[in-house]
Order: sequence, then C-alpha cells, then structure tokens
Amino acid sequence: MIHTNRLYFDDPTGSPFEAVVVAHALSGDRPSLILDRSGFYPESGGQMADRGLLGGFEVVDVQVDDAGRVHHVLSVSDLPAVGATVRGEPDRRRRRVHQALHTGQHMLSRALVDVAGAETISSRLGETACTIDTPGETLREADLARAEALVNDMVDADVPVRAFFPDAETLATLPLRRAPKVTDDVRVVMVGDFDCSPCGGTHCTGSAQVGFVRITGLERYKGGLRITFNAGPRARQSLFGQQDVLQALARGFTCGPADVPTAVERLRRDLTDTKAAAGRLQERLVEQIAARLLAGAGPAPRFVLSFPGEDATFLRLLGRRLAEVPGTSAILGAPGPEGTRYLVVRGPGADFDCGAFVRRLNAQTGGRGGGRAESAEGSMPVAPEDWAALVDGLAP
Ligand SMILES: [Zn+2]
Repeated sequence: MIHTNRLYFDDPTGSPFEAVVVAHALSGDRPSLILDRSGFYPESGGQMADRGLLGGFEVVDVQVDDAGRVHHVLSVSDLPAVGATVRGEPDRRRRRVHQALHTGQHMLSRALVDVAGAETISSRLGETACTIDTPGETLREADLARAEALVNDMVDADVPVRAFFPDAETLATLPLRRAPKVTDDVRVVMVGDFDCSPCGGTHCTGSAQVGFVRITGLERYKGGLRITFNAGPRARQSLFGQQDVLQALARGFTCGPADVPTAVERLRRDLTDTKAAAGRLQERLVEQIAARLLAGAGPAPRFVLSFPGEDATFLRLLGRRLAEVPGTSAILGAPGPEGTRYLVVRGPGADFDCGAFVRRLNAQTGGRGGGRAESAEGSMPVAPEDWAALVDGLAP
C-alpha cells in the first residue's frame, strides 16, 4: 500500500506541487483521491485540514488513514483518472494562519510550563478559536500574563523554527516537552532552544512569523483549565476589527479611544437617572389619567381603554389604581409596533373573571398570557384596529 509522501514536512508554506493520482478511495463515505505525494495537510494533531485546488477542483477535506495515505476529498465526484498528473495548490493564506497558530501554540505551551509548571494535555486549533487544556486549576491570571509576555519576547527575538526527523540516538538526547505519540519516524519541532516537541504539523520557519500571541480566555474545563488564545494573521484581523469598533465608538462619543470606558460609564449613569425621572413622570401621568377617569365614572364602572405606545409598567400602574375602586373592571390595551399588551383587573366586589377573559382574548387573537380572576395580563402579536369592538365581542 502506498504511503503518501508529505511535501509539507519540508515546505510548510504550501507551495504548488505536481503529483500522480495513484488510487481512488473512500474517506468515510466520500470518494477521495490518493496521490503519490501531497502538499495538503490532513486534519490531525489538533490542526485543521488544508483547503485549496487539486487538478483545478476545490479540495473540501483532507484526511489521513491508518496506513498513512492522505485522502483528498474534492468538490466533484468525477475524480481525475488514476495515473493522471495533477497540480495541487494549497490555500496558502489559510496555511499561513495555521502555521502561526501552531507555532504560537508550541511556544505558549512551553511558556506555561516555564512560568507555572502547567503541562498541556491537549490543544486544538479551531476554525474560530484555539485552545490549550491544562490539568488542575492552579493557573492564575498573572501566570497567563507572564506566559504571554514570555512568548511575545520569543517572537520578537526571531529565533529559527526547525522541523526534522532525528535518528533514534539524537532523539534520545533531545529535551522533548512531551512524549511522542508515535514510535517510528518521530518528527521534532524546535523553536530556537526555547521549546522542543514532537509534532507533525505545519509551523513557521522563524518565531517572528508568529507575529504575536494573545491569550483571550481562561475557563474551567473537565477538572482543569482551558486557555483560549490567538496568534498571527487571525489575531491581527481580530484585533483590527476590535480597534475599528473602538474607534467608531470613540467617534460616536467624540472622544479618544482611551476615554470610551469613561464615556460609557457616564452614559450608563445618565440612563439610570433618566429612567428614574421617566418613572416619576409616568406615575404622575397615571395618577392624572386615573383621577380624570374616576371623576366622570358612576358606581362600579367598567373601563375599556387603549393607550397606544405605552408599556407594561404604565398598564400595571393604571390597573392598580383603577382596581382600588369597588365593583370596577378595567380592560386596558397598549398597541405598539410589535403587538398589543393587555392588562385586565377588577376592583373589590366585582365578579368579572379577568383570567377567563384573557384566555378568550388569547384564543381569539393568538395571544399569550393569563392570570387569576382578580387580575390577568398578556400580549397578542397584532394591534387591533378597534380595541373596544374586540373587547365587546368577547366580554360576557
Ligand atoms: Zn506543532
């Protein structure tokens, strides 16, 4: 059986290559192409598969089987013929992102050992986020800050990154950070003399190519801690995006980016004050409305009223006030752009069943809500043209 010659071991940058189709096979249940040699990285070791073009067709997945054959899954089912020579063009931009993330992960794993004795038990370079898992919960925010600073010092030092297959004798002398997962053909990646670990992935060729590493999260995970980080072009894009947001906010506040937190805090305080003032005004308004309604009402009055644009608080304040009147019943609606809220209340001695009425209203209008005989509320997705007519059609 053919063992695919992996071109990315020597050329991590994803250069175009030519290869011969040696077989058609299956990767899971998808038809796949096996080549004599490939520059496409198959998903493994926590690194995602490459994308790109093969024979002019889109490569949608790359996997490796137990025999060491790399399976290329294409966007078409009509695969290039066995024996044909095809040109492969890995997506170098995507590869570059993975190189930086992977090298950054090695360096961060090393730094976590150096500053806090925290081993990496697993790592993952995901489509949107990269994580390192460590056992126990001993790592502190300060440790992470020191680890991040150490990694970025190593990035700035621009030390060479070397990937090679040492012979058994040499391998035995290397200070590997962790034991290899394979016994034969162990590939070793060295970041200067900072870190030395077994790995089959694609890395940068110098630490400066990582750009920088930024830790973005720390959370408990399976009895240990999970660190989320970003590096290289993806981190740059993310930070640029955040900077754009911050600048837009600063423009909105007419202040500098550094003053945005103060401006937001001021806005929050203003909002609290304004809400309190609006609440006081609403209470006074409700009091005036209630006084006017009750002034013109006879004994045991019945109110059917619509207050366009008002909120639930308004309805409750007014309902509470009207329910103080013996024998009263009040069916209050507040139509708005997203539907109509309603509140139904009764005063002492009234026998109107508010809950039953709201259930009838809900059934008629597709509304939700409920309550007791004394008081009930709900909302319907529409704003009726004539609230009084709707209510009269339902009331007993
Ligand atoms: Zn690696």
